[in-house]
Amino acid sequence: MITSCASPTVILEPYQKNNERLCSTETRANHSLVPCALQNGSLAVAEGRTITPVINELLSLPSFVAKVTTQDWHPQNHVSFASNHPPPNNRPFIDTVTIYHPDDPSLGHYETRLWPDHCVQNTPGAELIPELDASKATHNIKKGTDPRVEMYSAFVDPLGVCDSGLNSLLQDEKVSHVYVVGLAGDYCVKSTAMDAVKLLGLEGKVFVIEDGTKPVDGGEPWEESKKDMESKGVKVIGISAKEVRWLYGEGLEA
Ligand code: ZN
Repeated sequence: MITSCASPTVILEPYQKNNERLCSTETRANHSLVPCALQNGSLAVAEGRTITPVINELLSLPSFVAKVTTQDWHPQNHVSFASNHPPPNNRPFIDTVTIYHPDDPSLGHYETRLWPDHCVQNTPGAELIPELDASKATHNIKKGTDPRVEMYSAFVDPLGVCDSGLNSLLQDEKVSHVYVVGLAGDYCVKSTAMDAVKLLGLEGKVFVIEDGTKPVDGGEPWEESKKDMESKGVKVIGISAKEVRWLYGEGLEA
């Protein structure tokens, strides 16, 4: 139950001009696209911007009922910023902190990694990268707005304190398949994809397109992240997979 989000402003913003229903007379599938955190100040991801053409191509397709961009939108006092914790255990990328439920520590806690200050609200670092064709999106979500909790998933933080509204949006659109791309593959993309399976009950129908994402930690850690996702019902696919061809009207799943 959502009781105490410290950021009561609406964080799910429809783009009015694209708010008409985009597709779906010709197909029984309702596809949605979630490009995560393509921002000037996104977490340090090697070659992160090289994925933008793939994402712009996906955004250009009329075959999605919802295309929801997301933005990390942190207050300056956000718990994930190393600068908000005392030394010596506040090294960005290296140290972690334990986050307890803000209302009652007995309700739960989790360990989370510390980062340099990034994507601070109303700063250039929080803006979507200019080469992303965000005008093709139907909605945008600002997340990580509560200073007390870290929120990689575009749906909800691990303690259920802040719900972005994405779950009800995708349920209202009767979404049957979710495609997740963007940054970073091993954080926001992974958490968003796994929550899509869990919250929407779409096991085997949530896809991370590997050509459309990059991880913070490549190599073996990324292989582990992919295994984690697969074990939770997410399919990690390439750009030429049949699940992507469906978006072009080829071989649609019944
Ligand atoms: Zn963040």
